[in-house]
Amino acid sequence: MHWEAAARTDPGLQRSGNEDAHLCARDAGVFGIADGMGGHPAGEVASRLAVQTLARWVSDGHSRRFGAARLQTLLRDTVTRANLVIARQAAENPAESGMGTTLTALALVPRDGVAVLAHVGDSRAYRLRDGTLRQITVDHTWVQQQVDAGQLTESQARVHPFSSILTRALGTSIHVDVDALEVALRPGDLLLLCSDGLTAMLEDDEIRSLLASAAPPAALATRLIDAANARGGVDNITVVLVRILD
Ligand code: CA
Repeated sequence: MHWEAAARTDPGLQRSGNEDAHLCARDAGVFGIADGMGGHPAGEVASRLAVQTLARWVSDGHSRRFGAARLQTLLRDTVTRANLVIARQAAENPAESGMGTTLTALALVPRDGVAVLAHVGDSRAYRLRDGTLRQITVDHTWVQQQVDAGQLTESQARVHPFSSILTRALGTSIHVDVDALEVALRPGDLLLLCSDGLTAMLEDDEIRSLLASAAPPAALATRLIDAANARGGVDNITVVLVRILD
């Protein structure tokens, strides 16, 4: 399995800082997005700690050594570790008390032709295959719970005043429930990781049309960010794109 990948981040048009962080370890096939919260600068600290914990796992070499089942467990353990790292730092630094972050982490598993993911929060992973865009992760948000209960539609949830209220985040408690997932891959598939600064501005169908192109991932990433900014860019926008080549 071979792939190409690119990442782009942008503060958007209305925020002075950027509380998003990302990892694009192309050779290792490991990618991640973290969207920090807790106010400037604590949100930036939380998302950076999350991504650093993931980067350390990559540099330890684990991501290359195992099959999908074991890697999924290891990746989930890494996200659990990131939670403790952030919670500990918040406990030791009053200025960072209450900080938290999302983390959506993805590792390609060439030997099994799949990707494994570990996920907490409302940053998302999607797979575009044959013109169909499918959201792989489920948002850990209050509005998603309302959608699941039939109280809100997806479109209502996207613009709801409580749309950014998370039901799970890293760093805000010693315990966190981490979703572990697996997604099948084949040549031509395009994977997208993104923060909610993209999905709050664009409907899934708009994202799908913007990605329906053979352009390199870097060009597609720029196209997504430009489109989110054209809609107002109210939040930081981060995207990671991975295309499976063969
Ligand atoms: Ca955000």
